[in-house]
Amino acid sequence: PSPLGPTPKLVIDLERLAQLPKDKAGPLARYAATIQSQRGDYNGKVLSIRQEDLRSLAVIYDKSPTELTEELINWGVLDPEARRAVESF
Ligand code: C2E
Ligand code: C2E
Ligand code: C2E
Repeated sequence: PSPLGPTPKLVIDLERLAQLPKDKAGPLARYAATIQSQRGDYNGKVLSIRQEDLRSLAVIYDKSPTELTEELINWGVLDPEARRAVESF
């Protein structure tokens, strides 16, 4: 176990995501919308996603999970805490 506590969750900021240009955020926005639909979870400002889903998204964006995490932090879609969630990959 990490001395910093449990692995933080990957929490997508849906309001920020909606503000981003489609050419960048399109694949992530579609992925998040699919998860919302599967869960029936439409009212949230944020969406907690699986670590596995970040791996899939990294393939879609042709980046490593670490690189994609940095990009999503730069966009303001993920909290910097998310770095610790991908360290365990
Ligand atoms: P599933 O993977 O067979 O999960 C069935 C139910 O188990 C989920 O229903 C949820 O109540 C619970 N569950 C499974 N894994 C977790 C988890 O890590 N945390 C929590 N809190 N609950 C979990 P739900 O939410 O209605 O989702 C239905 C189906 O939609 C899931 O079936 C899965 O196929 C898909 N799904 C939902 N959210 C995600 C997601 O974040 N990523 C992926 N890849 N699929 C998801
Ligand atoms: P948490 O996981 O730290 O989530 C804090 C708050 O962020 C939640 O408060 C909710 O307002 C929002 N949030 C986080 N992820 C999602 C998401 O995927 N969809 C939506 N719509 N909102 C999200 P809330 O609902 O009052 O829950 C408080 C705490 O209760 C959560 O803290 C979590 O520890 C637990 N919790 C609530 N629902 C579930 C659940 O379905 N599964 C599990 N395992 N824990 C849950
Ligand atoms: P959480 O609900 O607090 O779950 C934390 C971790 O516990 C999950 O990390 C997963 O490793 C494990 N876990 C929890 N419930 C289940 C389950 O039913 N089956 C399995 N195989 N493992 C489970 P993970 O996968 O990275 O998910 C992170 C967060 O994403 C979850 O936190 C939850 O907030 C959300 N989430 C993931 N999948 C689903 C889902 O199918 N439905 C819903 N409603 N939320 C989900």
